[in-house]
Amino acid sequence: MSSVQTLHLGRLSDNKWPGKLSAEDIFVDALQIASQLDGYYVTTQPSAKTRCIDGRHDPALDENNLGPQVPAGAPGAALAYRLGIDKDDLTRGTFYDDALMMIESYLRLGLMPGGHRDDDADDVSVGCGAIDGVDNVLAHMIDPSLVEDHKRLVKTLLGDDFNRDHYLRVLGAGLVLSSRSSGYFSGRGEILDLLESKAPHSVSRLKGHHQEGIVIINFVPDTTLASNRFASDHGGMQAFGYDLWRSKQIARTLFPLPSQGLDRERFVMARVMLTIATLMALTDGSLQVLVRVPVDEELTES
Ligand SMILES: [Zn+2]
Repeated sequence: MSSVQTLHLGRLSDNKWPGKLSAEDIFVDALQIASQLDGYYVTTQPSAKTRCIDGRHDPALDENNLGPQVPAGAPGAALAYRLGIDKDDLTRGTFYDDALMMIESYLRLGLMPGGHRDDDADDVSVGCGAIDGVDNVLAHMIDPSLVEDHKRLVKTLLGDDFNRDHYLRVLGAGLVLSSRSSGYFSGRGEILDLLESKAPHSVSRLKGHHQEGIVIINFVPDTTLASNRFASDHGGMQAFGYDLWRSKQIARTLFPLPSQGLDRERFVMARVMLTIATLMALTDGSLQVLVRVPVDEELTES
């Protein structure tokens, strides 16, 4: 039997990050939230669409039919693949083609992709900060002034699974890719149209303003945050929810062979690195972090 423990990791950073969202002027009782967090986690449904970490209100959200949360939903996995796995020349390819490949892989493997727009989506921006700002995400990941913070957080989340060689490999791939960032990301505005055409009804439309005041990283398999209810019970304060277990599951599904261990590790590394960089692009580093982990009762009792 296993139970769940929620740990408080303090603020994302004591440095100022480039993102706009701040919890500097709001009181967030993270320990209180941690003590009641389990009540806001529900079992994921395999047939439900993958969601973004975005904490905003989804009017169509059905708490009994929730998919896991990862940055930019399924298209976000495409960039992790490009940086961590792809053996092609990094100077070729586009985010659009990589997203197409990833969406098709999801569908072939029986995983439900997903993504979202928002109220303000237009011809220029799709409304998902992790897609609209993906060039910034990449730029922050390789920014020398942010790299210490970045590495510290990736290490904290991956623990014993942190591999320095993988970290440096993805960082290097990010640097090479950034040299042609505008070309690589040029078709990103069409990615959600692509997703809609490949997987009808997989794109949500989120409403209202960003009011994320806390970050929750979830390691407990097959569970996810009931984000609408969390926000409505916390005075409108939303949470960025990242289901890290999902990235590990995707890695196992995309690279199932025993000989693909390196690819699995590199994919998870790239996904976690991009998640931290996404938080750097969206927040000023002042949000507190909770980590939800499974605890093996037999181990803790003995
Ligand atoms: Zn998003």
